[in-house]
Amino acid sequence: CGIVGYTGDEAAGPLVSAGLENLEYRGYDSAGVALVGDDLTVAKRAGEVGELSVPDAPGATTAIGHTRWSTHGPPTDGNAHPHCSQSGEVAVVHNGIIQNYEALRRELEADGYAFASDTDTEVVPHLLERELEGGHDLLSALEAVVDRLDGSYAIAAVRAGRDRIVATRHESPLVIGHGDDGSFLASDVTAFLEHTRSVTYLEDDDLVALEGESVTVYRGGGTVEPAIETVEWEAD
Ligand code: GLU
Repeated sequence: CGIVGYTGDEAAGPLVSAGLENLEYRGYDSAGVALVGDDLTVAKRAGEVGELSVPDAPGATTAIGHTRWSTHGPPTDGNAHPHCSQSGEVAVVHNGIIQNYEALRRELEADGYAFASDTDTEVVPHLLERELEGGHDLLSALEAVVDRLDGSYAIAAVRAGRDRIVATRHESPLVIGHGDDGSFLASDVTAFLEHTRSVTYLEDDDLVALEGESVTVYRGGGTVEPAIETVEWEAD
């Protein structure tokens, strides 16, 4: 029940796995990561973060990770996040519940999209891929997709071949960390506090694009300057 993301100059795999370990206290049953390169590299399984062998993807400087607290579908390797689109080009992590996933799943299956898991989450990568096929880029695809979702969610997505993370939230927390040589994204600041105390708490329905140190927040149809706060307290 946690999300972590990093994009910047550093190797993203170790940063994201360390972030997931920092979120272990929230409780979870499965963990996974997606590393961005020309192709996405995904590793996920039921069990502890420490049991997940994060693949060696040399040069990957963008990654997203997830600890899952199952709500829809048992805690199996296949139901662990990230969930990918059919082409394997898009990977998504999600906290929360997509209330209307059954109707969306039926619609996507009728459209030829094959599902690989029992989760509510998996509708999101397929919906994103359908928007990408329609000519959207990943950010505008996410904007279109969230219009279709009922429920609570924090969602982060990546696409093969581009060092960028796009994300949004609705009644589920998501916070940005502004690092010296990159940007973090997490459910909770404890994920990345050893790297930066400079944070932006996203508002409900914000969309955000992270690209290196550049963080763009989209709110109400335009962009807003992210409000940066400093976390003063010490983690245990
Ligand atoms: N509803 C999603 C699932 O069961 C996400 C659960 C979570 O927040 O970890 O896979």
